[in-house]
Amino acid sequence: MRKPILAGNWKMNKTHGEAVTFIEEIKGNVPSANEVETVVCAPALFLKEMNDIAAGSDVEIGAQTMHFEENGAFTGEISPAALKDLGINYSIIGHSERREMFNETDESVNQKLHAAFQHGITPIMCCGETLEERDSNKTEAVVKEQIEKGFESLSAEQVKQVVVAYEPIWAIGTGKSSTAEDANETCGTVRKVIAELYDQDTAEAVRIQYGGSVKPENIAGYMEKEHIDGALVGGASLKSDAFLQLVEAGK
Ligand code: PGA
Repeated sequence: MRKPILAGNWKMNKTHGEAVTFIEEIKGNVPSANEVETVVCAPALFLKEMNDIAAGSDVEIGAQTMHFEENGAFTGEISPAALKDLGINYSIIGHSERREMFNETDESVNQKLHAAFQHGITPIMCCGETLEERDSNKTEAVVKEQIEKGFESLSAEQVKQVVVAYEPIWAIGTGKSSTAEDANETCGTVRKVIAELYDQDTAEAVRIQYGGSVKPENIAGYMEKEHIDGALVGGASLKSDAFLQLVEAGK
């Protein structure tokens, strides 16, 4: 019922030439967008050219962050209006690295979700707990708060279009992925929180990705779980052959 969505998060990797080569290598080889949505979230510098190359294919190009204001005195920032003008239809919002290193908060994540909907951009909103929070049994409370605050004043229709990426921080880039069972349990918590805030219908419509050391060897275990509808993949999304295997497994 929910269409799977597989997204790569390149972070601050690749040069322009490498980005172009990657899109040329994958654009004719991903499954149909009717079966799985394929998104590559790349550094802003490369978005226009990648999107031009991917035009007409089943590959979508996304940003890794954006500001919530349309324009103004925000040195170095990326405007949602400018992204949309380039034909960019997705953006990661509130990745844990942005929260940790660039002062993003649940409040700014909420402002960015509103801005994304104003500009017709599908947000991939990240949530997830630290190792300390997990060890003190706070995972559910942490994720609940991130969802409640992040979704403030969004309509049910908007929420249905949000892609939530549940990424336990201790699993990101560490090779220590969550077990499929644990990931499914917390993705189920996300769905339960949405059902409480909105209704069951809305909760059932939201796509929830797992992220954190996903690779071709372990993705199948996540995809078969009830509450997991895709993956947000960092390291393993950088090589085109691995990325193609991930998307294929995402079907
Ligand atoms: P990883 O990163 O796949 O390298 O763990 C995931 C992410 O940060 O989105």
